Amino acid sequence: MIPFSPPRIDKKIIDEVVAALKSGWITTGPRTMKFEKEITKYCGCKKTIALSSATAGLEIMLRWFGVKEGDEVVVPAYTYCATANVVIHCGAKPVFVDINRDDFNISIEAISQAITERTKVIMPVDLGGFPVDMDEINELVNKKEIKRLFHAHTDIQRMLGRILVILDAAHSLGAVYKGKKVGSTTDITVFSFHAVKNLTTAEGGAVSMCLPEPFDNNAVYDYLNVYTLHGQDKDALAKTKKGSWRYDVTEAGYKANMTDILSAIGLVELKRYDNDTLIKRKEIFDTYNEVFKKYSWAQTPVYESGFKKTSYHVYMLRIRNITEMQRDEIIQRIFDKDVAVNVHFQPLPMLSFYKRIGYNMADFPVAFDNYSREITLPVFYDLTKEQMKTVTEAVINSVNETLGL
Ligand SMILES: *Cc1c(COP(=O)(O)O)cnc(C)c1O
Repeated sequence: MIPFSPPRIDKKIIDEVVAALKSGWITTGPRTMKFEKEITKYCGCKKTIALSSATAGLEIMLRWFGVKEGDEVVVPAYTYCATANVVIHCGAKPVFVDINRDDFNISIEAISQAITERTKVIMPVDLGGFPVDMDEINELVNKKEIKRLFHAHTDIQRMLGRILVILDAAHSLGAVYKGKKVGSTTDITVFSFHAVKNLTTAEGGAVSMCLPEPFDNNAVYDYLNVYTLHGQDKDALAKTKKGSWRYDVTEAGYKANMTDILSAIGLVELKRYDNDTLIKRKEIFDTYNEVFKKYSWAQTPVYESGFKKTSYHVYMLRIRNITEMQRDEIIQRIFDKDVAVNVHFQPLPMLSFYKRIGYNMADFPVAFDNYSREITLPVFYDLTKEQMKTVTEAVINSVNETLGL
């Protein structure tokens, strides 16, 4: 069986994890701080905090901005549930909007129609690693008539004076938009280092900040460090200093810190990310594209355009003119040929919880059409040329069998 996306665990990773274990410091400490600095340097943002997951990062930033009951957050209908679940956790309303036809990203036109005087945040997602139209989103939230709609309830909201943009970049570390790395293109960017992501630490995430004046990104970082550790004004490392036992709790914070064991993995992965990981992933994308572009039934994914470059996270193939049932049959046939594939994603209005609270898939026709014809193929570092051939042949044969070609 060709797996879908196993992590790359080699000697380098194992050695660094062992070194972290032997160092005597296993939770948040020097390796995590180094990891944060390296991410900041890598993506060119102002400051980065490493956390236990992207989900934690998204929720913490909504809470930092004071999002609560009565507020709305604009989210694409086409994403992983984490993007919307965190809005629910805050008691606010996720306002789903439809996506583009060509790529899988949030439609700018749909965002502008969804904004109301209750909108506090827009959370776009770089689906599959392909950057969203960030200039258009940044321009939209700065438009006079949109700013006039914005009602600030907290000091932080007053300071920004407009809708906050939190980019869900769970897929797009290393993607490039107009010459800038994702992480430096808007207010807040949240990365995921979950086991299936491009750069993994098993579990983990990071929040990269580029907050505009008059925000002090360093001060926000200091605040978040305390806020993600129970609101305790001294972390475990600071408390090991001689005689430094007393601490205060400034508010009832969360527990979402990153550990040094996991940062050890992240540091190895980040160092070889551009010059090794992304090169390999691009090679796989290009190989798949070369094969499928010869078939009229294949709609290959957009992953490079004039000023956008993907992070090659998930290869989202679409089959033209098929139904959801035919897609499911093709997937079953691919699995029968010992190749693991996936669907990214089931749009959120299709899922029980979101249906129950009133969302209707029929309101998002583009998301449904893209979903119903989509099959995600295996992309991982150790995938061999031979395995790529097995994958493409399994797809071609399964499409032929299903459509009687
Ligand atoms: C994986 C993923 C997340 C959540 O990441 P975690 O680190 O597992 O919390 C959020 N959004 C999208 C689009 C994802 O694919």
